[in-house]
Amino acid sequence: MIDIEGVVKRFGANTVLDGVHLRIAPGEVVSILGASGSGKSTLIRCINGLEKLDGGTIAVDGHRVDDPKQLQLARRCSGTVFQLFNLYPHLTALQNVTLAPIEVLNVPRRQAEDEGRELLSSVGLADRADAYPAQLSGGQRQRVGICRALAMKPRYLLLDEVTSALDPEMTSEVLDILARLAAGGTTMLFVTHEIAFARQISNRVVFLDQGRLLADLPTAQFFAADGGLAQPRIAQFLSKMS
Ligand code: ADP
Ligand code: MG
Repeated sequence: MIDIEGVVKRFGANTVLDGVHLRIAPGEVVSILGASGSGKSTLIRCINGLEKLDGGTIAVDGHRVDDPKQLQLARRCSGTVFQLFNLYPHLTALQNVTLAPIEVLNVPRRQAEDEGRELLSSVGLADRADAYPAQLSGGQRQRVGICRALAMKPRYLLLDEVTSALDPEMTSEVLDILARLAAGGTTMLFVTHEIAFARQISNRVVFLDQGRLLADLPTAQFFAADGGLAQPRIAQFLSKMS
């Protein structure tokens, strides 16, 4: 379980996360919605231990992210895909996918490559294994990014607006893969602006507003007139997005 308790994060005088409580249990698919600047990416970065907390705690399967001694174990549990393509440009698609399993988990190269090819083939990239990032489309790069995260066999997959830099066609090829992972039981916490998609695949929807968690509701309830939509900030946000 990802257990976020009362997390506060400030940048100077700017309180970006203001007492966030959130729990993600294995098997759940949770989407995070919220306006630009509401703290969504910061929350994902905090779960990764990429930001120092100013208050509260985060534990991933019991490993405290805010304790340097436990951070590595906590990070092993989750795999992250970011908004911008952050593949290593000098490595092929397959090398991007196999690097961490070989270096961090000490998986034998042959085995890592077999598993990497299998992952790439599962996202329709069997024939692109030896291509470099510059030779791939944006959608293909994000699919490699997803494989790279999955290669570490994470318990949780964190996704931060993985389709926001893609055109509609590439967006749908990536969303199709996420939908398949969700249906297959992968635990996911994902930030998205794709409201229809969030509605379709999430068990729960979380809404961040200026660093505060304004709603954490089962998906149907979030989109119900007497549920999430009863909150003016949420209604306003959804009307702007659709
Ligand atoms: P979102 O992902 O919801 O758009 P972010 O988490 O990226 O929001 O940002 C939330 C707020 O924190 C914004 O006001 C942003 O300017 C600020 N912020 C994010 N990262 C930093 C940083 N490294 N230094 C200073 N301010 C930051
Ligand atoms: Mg963001």
